[in-house]
Amino acid sequence: MELPIKIISTDFDGTVHSDGEHPRVPLSLQNRIAELQERGVKWVVNTGRDFNSLVAALDSARLKVAPDYLVVVEREIHVRDGQGYDACLAWNERCRSDQAILFAKVEPRLEAVVDWINERYQAVIYADDYSPFCLAAATNGDADGILRHVGEAFRDMPELSIVRNDVYARFSHAAYNKGTAMSEVARLNQVSRNHILAAGDHYNDLPMLSLDHARYLVAPANAISEVKAWVSRQGGYVSLDPYGHGVVQGLDHFLDQTTAKVAI
Ligand SMILES: [Mg+2]
Repeated sequence: MELPIKIISTDFDGTVHSDGEHPRVPLSLQNRIAELQERGVKWVVNTGRDFNSLVAALDSARLKVAPDYLVVVEREIHVRDGQGYDACLAWNERCRSDQAILFAKVEPRLEAVVDWINERYQAVIYADDYSPFCLAAATNGDADGILRHVGEAFRDMPELSIVRNDVYARFSHAAYNKGTAMSEVARLNQVSRNHILAAGDHYNDLPMLSLDHARYLVAPANAISEVKAWVSRQGGYVSLDPYGHGVVQGLDHFLDQTTAKVAI
């Protein structure tokens, strides 16, 4: 029988992986993913980490399963080829080019915004290869206040999005996020959103935790309250267990539910 789920897109830190757990990704989840991969399901790790940081974390977690795709910095796609990963050049180059055009428009206005923040908050602000504005706020309350102001300052640029994860944030082009990157992986595999499960725990997961991009939505118990509310409002599964334990429960919940429906 054909499986109802053909793509599983999971955030990494706090969703399938926890530094405090041994193993860092629960064996129950690794085993379930291995079984599903045997049946043709693709596993996408969809993270804010950059490529090198994710590969290092995957190595040190000593997984018995390998993701089929990596989405890094919430937007760039890499596909597994044997032991390594190849960049999906067409998407990644379009993404970089659109970001560069947008960031060139943003940069002249950044200084005033950064001055405003520095006058009011103790926060670390820097630029990196992925964004001309990166924030590490001292507290989540500070991040709320800073990002409210930044959003106001760039209100006239709807193509600019602020991607937040806890006290951290950076800019992106609104067309590129975990949701649109996941949909591109689905398009490459000719899979519709009706066969996609997405799981995440924080703000930067919200774009993929959407019925626009995935039919089955999962949040582990440790997800922030905004994510749990957003997932449950859309008929998703909010687990009472944390991290990967919660994800495997969500996966089984939807597999059982849909299998039962098919049996009827
Ligand atoms: Mg996370």
